[in-house]
Amino acid sequence: MSLTDLTLQELSTKLAAREVSAVEATRACLDRIRAVDGQVHAFLRVDEQGALAAAAASDSRRGAGGALSQLEGVPLALKDNLLTEGLETTCASRILGGFIPPYDATVVRLLKDAGAVLLGKTNQDEFAMGSSNETSAFGPCHNPYALDRAPGGSSGGSAAAVAAREAFGALGTDTGGSIRQPAALCNVVGLKPTYGRVSRFGVIAFASSLDQVGPLGRTVADVAALLQFIARHDAQDATSVPATVPDYSAELEAGVAGMRLGLPREYFAGGMDPEVEQAVRDAARAYEQMGATLVEVSLPHTRYALAAYYLIAPAEASSNLARYDGVRYGLRAKGVRGLEELYSRTREEGFGPEVKRRIMLGTYALSAGYYDAYYLKAQKVRTLIRRDFEQALAGVDALLTPTSPVPAFRLGEKVDDPLAMYLMDVFTLPCNLAGLPGLSLPGGFTRAGLPVGLQLLGRPFDEARLLRVARAFEREHPFHARAPQL
Ligand code: GLN
Repeated sequence: MSLTDLTLQELSTKLAAREVSAVEATRACLDRIRAVDGQVHAFLRVDEQGALAAAAASDSRRGAGGALSQLEGVPLALKDNLLTEGLETTCASRILGGFIPPYDATVVRLLKDAGAVLLGKTNQDEFAMGSSNETSAFGPCHNPYALDRAPGGSSGGSAAAVAAREAFGALGTDTGGSIRQPAALCNVVGLKPTYGRVSRFGVIAFASSLDQVGPLGRTVADVAALLQFIARHDAQDATSVPATVPDYSAELEAGVAGMRLGLPREYFAGGMDPEVEQAVRDAARAYEQMGATLVEVSLPHTRYALAAYYLIAPAEASSNLARYDGVRYGLRAKGVRGLEELYSRTREEGFGPEVKRRIMLGTYALSAGYYDAYYLKAQKVRTLIRRDFEQALAGVDALLTPTSPVPAFRLGEKVDDPLAMYLMDVFTLPCNLAGLPGLSLPGGFTRAGLPVGLQLLGRPFDEARLLRVARAFEREHPFHARAPQL
């Protein structure tokens, strides 16, 4: 067994016992990246020097003694929409080529303060718009379990890096499923916290009323450990909520006996892969055997969620992305005459087709005469969806659903059909519209060997319960232990 096969928790224990040094763990990750990332392309940028320097500093802190955090010396990866001081950050877009942030995102600073070693920046869909990583301007990431297939998106690189044993954990962002869907397709655990639980200061904005940062890890306990360090009120993010942060590991092993789990009728609709449906039904039965009660619930407005999301998210994106105009950040078109041409040529050259599509959709939905019919209506639908969840979750501890309607699809299969791609988010985006926490965990494999993800949705700020429910399943069904063959 190689060092990179350890979970984050196992590594942390060995670091604390001084059986392994942070430099050794970091070198093991860098070697692994060198060995497999030519095939996987999970990383856009590896900061070898920075990581080794951070690891050496961690080892000297360890040498000095005293209490150290659980993340001390642990190598992690960061999605490329998180600002990293002095390290290029592109959001996988040409328009941010060469952009060196002058400061760290709060979540990055929190990880650094905890002593973590940051390996580099992971591949993603351009500006986090996509469900397959194929809109990345720098080439797609490949699913470690089947290299001709997508890892999911938009945090595909973060999920693939964790699955491929290139990092012990990662951060991603989730606007409509971008942590959970790639986690599902890559057999790792991914958590989207409650809106407001984690700071977004220094996170490149896509849709500000939906975006949330969260952890990806190989086990539930690893994800709980990461969440512990990033869940924090931040005065620099006006949407950050000053709620107390529980100990996310305290009740992990408490099981589900006596709990009520809801199965939303609308999440078992047509169009789902039968093997995915079977895995979720098997998981439901497993929970029943562990002492949980299953309840059928209804979220009647689910079928409007996709349409509402694909108005609200592009509307907010069109506004957020107005700042990329060639004046302040990244790319500037050459040989232009006048300011207007600077704007249009920079945006023409800098944005890829999916980002342009979103900007056009969003600008249209917000324009005079259409605002009421599209944007305002979508916001009303959003309220109905939130109420559906409030009602359903009043009677149960959590909801159990599939994460993605299908397992990993082939690269190239959906990229030319935006609607087919948008449909990948049908089970993940309602939770963002409602601001709720959601988690995806390994739920088994199809006959072809592709991972299937289970999704758990919970009440606001009830992440600890989702982790506990997830852990109960993981303990009896350790699908996460099946590593990809690379
Ligand atoms: N796939 C969805 C989209 O393209 C969600 C992306 C995300 O969560 N960032 O908008």
